[in-house]
Amino acid sequence: MNGYAELHCHSCFSLLDGASTPEMLVRRAAELGLPALALTDHNGLYGAVRFHTAARERGIRPIIGAEMTLADGAHLVLLAETRAGYANLCRLISRAQLEGSKDNARLKMGWLRGWTEGLIALTGCRQGPVARTLLQGQRDKALAALQRLKTLFGPEHLYVELQHHLLREDDALLADLAELSEHLGLPTAAANNVHYAYREGYRLHDVLTAIRHNASLHQAQKHLRPNSEFFLKSPEEMGALFAAYPDALDNTLRIARRCNVDLHFRAEALPPQPVATHQTPDQRLAELCRAALPKRYPQDRNAAERQLHHELRVIWETHLAGYCLLVWDIVRFAEERGIQVRGRGSAANSIVAYLLRITNVDPLAHNLLFERFLSTEARVMPDIDLDFCARRREEVIQYVYERYGEAHVGMVCNYVTYRKRSAVRDVGKALGLPPDTVDSLAKSLRWEDGLPEGVSQGIWNEFRALWEQIQGLPRHLSIHVGGMCITAKPLNGLVPLERATMPGRVVVQWDKDGVEDAGLIKLDLLSLRTLSAVEECLQLVEQNHGIRIDLDALPLDDPAVYDALQRADTIGAFQVESRAQQQALVKMKPRCFTDIVVEVAIIRPGPLLGNMVHPFFRRRQGLERVTYAHSMLKPILEETLGVIVFQEQVIRVAMVMGGFTPGEADLLRRAMSRHRAEEEMRAFRERFVLGAVSQGVSRKAAERVFSQLAGFASYGFCKSHAAAFAKTAYDTLYLRAHYPAEYTCALLNHQPMGFYPPRVVAGDAQRHGVKVLPVHVNRSEDRCTMQDGAVRLGFAYVDGLGEAAIARILKAREKGVFLSLADFCRRTRLPRRLVENLILAGGMDDWSGDRRRSLWELGRLRYTENELSLALPDNGVRLKPMTHGEELIGEVAVTGLAAEGHVMELVRDRLDQMGVSTSRDLETAKSGERVKVAGMVVVRQAPPTAKGFVFLTLEDEHGLVNVIVRPDVFQQQKAAWVGSGILVVEGRVQKASGRVDVLAEGVGGMQ
Ligand SMILES: [Zn+2]
Ligand SMILES: [Zn+2]
Repeated sequence: MNGYAELHCHSCFSLLDGASTPEMLVRRAAELGLPALALTDHNGLYGAVRFHTAARERGIRPIIGAEMTLADGAHLVLLAETRAGYANLCRLISRAQLEGSKDNARLKMGWLRGWTEGLIALTGCRQGPVARTLLQGQRDKALAALQRLKTLFGPEHLYVELQHHLLREDDALLADLAELSEHLGLPTAAANNVHYAYREGYRLHDVLTAIRHNASLHQAQKHLRPNSEFFLKSPEEMGALFAAYPDALDNTLRIARRCNVDLHFRAEALPPQPVATHQTPDQRLAELCRAALPKRYPQDRNAAERQLHHELRVIWETHLAGYCLLVWDIVRFAEERGIQVRGRGSAANSIVAYLLRITNVDPLAHNLLFERFLSTEARVMPDIDLDFCARRREEVIQYVYERYGEAHVGMVCNYVTYRKRSAVRDVGKALGLPPDTVDSLAKSLRWEDGLPEGVSQGIWNEFRALWEQIQGLPRHLSIHVGGMCITAKPLNGLVPLERATMPGRVVVQWDKDGVEDAGLIKLDLLSLRTLSAVEECLQLVEQNHGIRIDLDALPLDDPAVYDALQRADTIGAFQVESRAQQQALVKMKPRCFTDIVVEVAIIRPGPLLGNMVHPFFRRRQGLERVTYAHSMLKPILEETLGVIVFQEQVIRVAMVMGGFTPGEADLLRRAMSRHRAEEEMRAFRERFVLGAVSQGVSRKAAERVFSQLAGFASYGFCKSHAAAFAKTAYDTLYLRAHYPAEYTCALLNHQPMGFYPPRVVAGDAQRHGVKVLPVHVNRSEDRCTMQDGAVRLGFAYVDGLGEAAIARILKAREKGVFLSLADFCRRTRLPRRLVENLILAGGMDDWSGDRRRSLWELGRLRYTENELSLALPDNGVRLKPMTHGEELIGEVAVTGLAAEGHVMELVRDRLDQMGVSTSRDLETAKSGERVKVAGMVVVRQAPPTAKGFVFLTLEDEHGLVNVIVRPDVFQQQKAAWVGSGILVVEGRVQKASGRVDVLAEGVGGMQ
């Protein structure tokens, strides 16, 4: 027999102990002609799904395994021979992870008893229980260890692992191991303990090792591998190394042939749903949908019935009725408890989801594409995202745990990977570069795309190379924000589990892509503060006006909503409030709900990268003719003026022009959204172009269209998702327009949220006639409240006042209002610092009207928290009262916002002298006019799509000013641009289609 299969191989998912991705290893294995490859990362199967997929695509047999750390620190390699062995491997890893401390999994030998079925063990590297003792010269101990493993696994399932890395002791060690194996009648297997795909990978691996030990390469010297032999070797190279042990080579192929595990669980994944005995899940689903149909479609039902019939049929064919019922059950639970919930994602394409109240967007009214949600050809589970009121999501998660049992529910993990800046820090540290230099380099990457030119000399050359290589590799695990995995069989036999940082929470070792590709059920239960604010606003409206607004029943044509949108008057509204959105709104001038859907979808990296935003707005404004790459695209792209805005359009274009089936088209979309399957994309491109050419499209046109699709799909929204967001945006705009005070109150109670800090939200509300009142010791509650139509700030806004202090004030107040500063102090005994903050916030204005005097009085009150001396005779001292300006500064300092004014008012006189215009003046300024503007920085952005341009939003007492900073202008005064406080910017007014910007020429501060 000839050939070799590598059975001991680490990927980057050995977390800082492997320098290549599973895909790189598989690619290299294919180049070398290996028939099979095992992935054996430390104590985990993190990379197993990616590895499995990549290997299958290359025609290489994937072997799923792991290198376990035993209780005494020794290493043991386990390979899954069968599905039962795979389940045992998952259970063993889970137990080692969950019973060890976090990030320190330990497997006790005893646990293996009874759990070795279907597993093949290799005795491991130099740290294996046998090799380790041999290296220490303890032959008897080695023999005993091997005997013990033999008893546990049996002679058919244990191989003595032989490694040769050209080290001094290797020849002797191999001879010893071979002799022991013969002694006990055990076979041997060769392995190279691979840690990188190519020899050159050793350098990156050394750096990762240094990072793992939180040291420089120099300091980590003793932890580094002794040479660069730990790469994936060819059968010839291995043949030369193991010429004396031909069986050890042949056995790798024998083991490879025995191992056959497919990582695809769909059939067994669904937890059962309760249905009546005479019913199947499909019947139950149909019954629920039919019952809901007349309510959702009171008038014309024909089209709805047809669509329902079609969808139920696809759901029946794909066996997903149970899944739909599962989601329905969670939504039902939330609604019964009065927890706000909205479904989004591709589910909103489905009438079934609409009827089950999983989503609230009518797929028929908005011409949504069901195939984006589900098709008979798709190999993977559909995705449904549910947003819940942020404060009550935990109740829903607890319900899921209770309903399906802890053993069946786990949170999806997330791999935190190296990005530009973290890569600079860790590589810089490993190479021992000066910390200050590394730090400023990392900081500069906030504003730059790549490393500066100078970073390529000497050691920096190597730095740059490693910096590039390390990006995208996983650094550690975290928990996904809301992904939950729910399974019928206990989870720990399907995927390994480990501890999350949050105490008591358990995560599965796969991220959302892994879970999805393995066919496990995943639900995203996310929290959305907007929904909390919406719910609170609805309650306030009910209290103040006696009406409960039914958002489901809102007509989608309210003029006040469109009026606000057209003026880009959207601060505090969901999704459409950001600077980029506002600038688009004045060009878009939305007139109907579909316009909002487009608006939400188009200000996204996808359309921006695809260079589609600009043409779209030009066409929208009638400045450019609407054209199509080919006339067959007209029906698909007509509603978006010939431009691709939605993922569904990608699917339709692939079907119409490329001749794809719906399922194929969806596979194309998935491939595009994952950024890593270059070769797969090439195949799709070829297929698309051939399909188009066969329909008479020119090759050039087809290529161009495909490039547009590819550029777009990775970041684009699906229309259903955008529609679901647009509906929530509409709801918030409606509430904001008709109940501004209630909406402001609710918004202020759910900060931080959205694009702007509370002071901008409050300032904007004030400009819309909402009265915002300062904190008041006798009238405020813990949160903001409505009082006589005005918004009263809550105690929670006062810096330093925590729950305990607030509770103390409220408890003391139960016995009657506070009568004076002294009375307040006596009854609450709050620390002096907090009382000061309350004074500065304006909370005690009733008693003196002058905050400086109150502070002074407080200073004379000699008291501690438990002891008060309250003699306070007026000694006739005359203090200069606080100016209004000083009061405002104090309020901003302790509450983050000024209730009855704006800090910029204080400096306006001086700004006037400096010739600075207000944001209001800009409305009447002429395009090209030179101006100075000033304000506090609200946001500072340098989007990667903007090629070095930086965008600032300044706020003054009248509103916001948008400033554009060219790259050269930014570089000249970088420190000033990123500084804090009030900025004074000089530049030229730019006016175009209703939007006003200042193109900056320079910046200064206030003298
Ligand atoms: Zn090892
Ligand atoms: Zn290893």
